[in-house]
Amino acid sequence: MIITALKSRFPSINPAILMVSLLLTAAALLSGCKDTQLSSDVSGTPTSTADSYEDRTQPVSFWVATDTHYLDKALQDGGPAFQSYVSGGDGKMLPYSDELMEALVHDAAKVKPRFLILSGDLTNNGEAGSHTELAAKLKRIEEHGTSVYVIPGNHDLFNPWARSFKDDKQIIAEHITDTDFTELYADFGYNEAVSRDKNSLSYAVNAAPGLWLLMIDSSQYVNNLKYGFPQTDGRILPATLAWMNDCVELAAEQQASIITVMHHNLLSHTSMSVSGFKLNNSQETMTALRKDNLNLVLSGHIHMQDIQRDPLAGQTAADGLTVTPVFDIATSAFAVNPHQYGRMTFDPRSRKVTYKAASLDVEGWAADNGITDSNLLNFTAYAENSFAKGSYNKAMQNLEESGFSVEEKQSMAEMMSSLNVHYFAGTASVDAEAIKAMPGYMLWQRQKEGFMSGYISSMLKPKELSNTELEMTLTRQ
Ligand code: FE
Ligand code: MN
Repeated sequence: MIITALKSRFPSINPAILMVSLLLTAAALLSGCKDTQLSSDVSGTPTSTADSYEDRTQPVSFWVATDTHYLDKALQDGGPAFQSYVSGGDGKMLPYSDELMEALVHDAAKVKPRFLILSGDLTNNGEAGSHTELAAKLKRIEEHGTSVYVIPGNHDLFNPWARSFKDDKQIIAEHITDTDFTELYADFGYNEAVSRDKNSLSYAVNAAPGLWLLMIDSSQYVNNLKYGFPQTDGRILPATLAWMNDCVELAAEQQASIITVMHHNLLSHTSMSVSGFKLNNSQETMTALRKDNLNLVLSGHIHMQDIQRDPLAGQTAADGLTVTPVFDIATSAFAVNPHQYGRMTFDPRSRKVTYKAASLDVEGWAADNGITDSNLLNFTAYAENSFAKGSYNKAMQNLEESGFSVEEKQSMAEMMSSLNVHYFAGTASVDAEAIKAMPGYMLWQRQKEGFMSGYISSMLKPKELSNTELEMTLTRQ
């Protein structure tokens, strides 16, 4: 298969796949905005003066989901090519991609958050059909009263890996361009923007009274077709950083607070030495964020649930001021077990923000819609089992050549599978004792190379911050 061949020929260019395969196998077995038109016309945004005092002072609720990796049902027939693609992949629940999005539409219609952020990797591999179908679902979310704001991820644009699956064949599917993206998602950010960056698909939007979002396009897609693969790593262009600074000044005129959203991570969310997750210019970006008093980033990309705080938090900077802690919340992939997203609140009076990972209610959606598929009616167990099984199988493959007995291998694979389930959900360090008590844990320690045991202990390392909940206060601009 073309894709497999590319992966093995260029292993170094695809750290995301490398990481996930490490996780699933071994371990987890695992603008110058100066010259950018900064529209000063903010009418039509939710803070227009027509808002009542109450509107402006009530806490708002909003959601963030990422890495939805939506695949249009019409692009797969469930046949052998699709099945082998899914089982060889990184744990995405592609067979039920449509059902997952339907459950999100259903959840949103019930709870009616003020807005929903999707922070990139909207589609499996940027298929035009997937983008069109997803946009139609987002429109339904908006019809129920929730605004939607999106940015692209590294899989969404100019993706030469866009495929459909028929019988035993993968067929090249149509991809989309950056211009297509802004047209398809015009109602989900681009038309509502207070300002758009000239040099990327970044924009600023006034999402609620006193709250702006800086939706940053950190992906690098212009060379994808030339390379023959989607470039994984990301960065924020110097011109985009300058444009962000101008947006901050504009927000300051309204004394608004700002949340920054990007697909790539600002901070490291794993101690593994793989590149491609954190922004290439994370240091420069961090300096810019600190200078602009931007202290909350929402990201995705790594597919695992993890919250980190600026390691310099609380220290004294060169100018004698205390460094404001910047948080980076990496929400786990919506497409991967446990299929969660972040439920958040913002209180305009105190500027306090809360975040809590919540499970998508697929079972509730299935029951309310007369679905008879038992996998969907019992989705929580089904999804965890299939994710665990995939991890188990990859661990067994990884141990194939080792000197362990079959029984020992099974015990090690079981431990790795359980660790993987917790690691992706963000609860590995919480449940570390129970995981360490599994018989397979000691066996991994005995492994000669020692790489895996080191890796496992890094996953189980105690952590001060919760990965699934956060309370913090946004800086006022
Ligand atoms: Fe992704
Ligand atoms: Mn990504």
